[in-house]
Amino acid sequence: MKIAIMGAMPEEIAPILEKLGEYKTTEYAGNKYYEARYKGADLVIAYSKIGKVFSTLTASSMIQHFGAQKLLFSGVAGAISPSLKVGDLIVATKLSQHDLDITAFGHAFGYVPEGSVYIDTDKDLITISKEVASEMGKSVKEGIIATGDQFVANEDRKNWIGDTFKADALEMEGASVAVVCNALDIPFFILRSISDAADMDASFSFDEFLETSAVESAEFVMKMVDKIVD
Ligand code: SAH
Repeated sequence: MKIAIMGAMPEEIAPILEKLGEYKTTEYAGNKYYEARYKGADLVIAYSKIGKVFSTLTASSMIQHFGAQKLLFSGVAGAISPSLKVGDLIVATKLSQHDLDITAFGHAFGYVPEGSVYIDTDKDLITISKEVASEMGKSVKEGIIATGDQFVANEDRKNWIGDTFKADALEMEGASVAVVCNALDIPFFILRSISDAADMDASFSFDEFLETSAVESAEFVMKMVDKIVD
């Protein structure tokens, strides 16, 4: 079993690399990939760089070049749902691209012909996440995540995304990773810990909480890996 663990920024995978201690580094397609053996499984770990294009490239590389059979994303996000506070975890049930817009042709936001507005995540991985949450005594929200190539730091934009996609959180990589995994038939899981509320204070909150929130997410994802390989 080969499992991909992906983040967008160095801070999101640093806690995982730290836990592993030893790994092999391979450069491929302008990025670094870290491979390690962990409890009888093979792991490939990378951060993609920010946004939909880089995350698409990294997810595709992990699957098609490195042979990953499952993909887990760990990272931070802006909250839309008022119930989500800094450090809280959200598991995506489905994801959508909030900046994909050919509505001029009568289509819904997030839709392109032969695509779909939402992509569902893997049910079995969500079941595993529920077991991990209960063992850790953590309450983890399940909800819709909206993705776009924008750092949202604006109440109006955030509310529009929340209303249009019924989204609970937003970020910049999840839906593109979802498109890749869906097309290549790879079970995937997107976990985010809240770093900010996507409002006018978002960039300050992000800078303050990126590291601690990234650790929350990474620790949870590693517990999931323990269960998957068990
Ligand atoms: N501080 C960085 C930029 C961070 S962009 C720099 O200057 O280099 C924000 C990253 O965190 C993205 O990877 C995105 O997925 C996530 N994220 C957290 N809060 C977000 C928000 N409010 N809007 C969009 N993405 C957010």
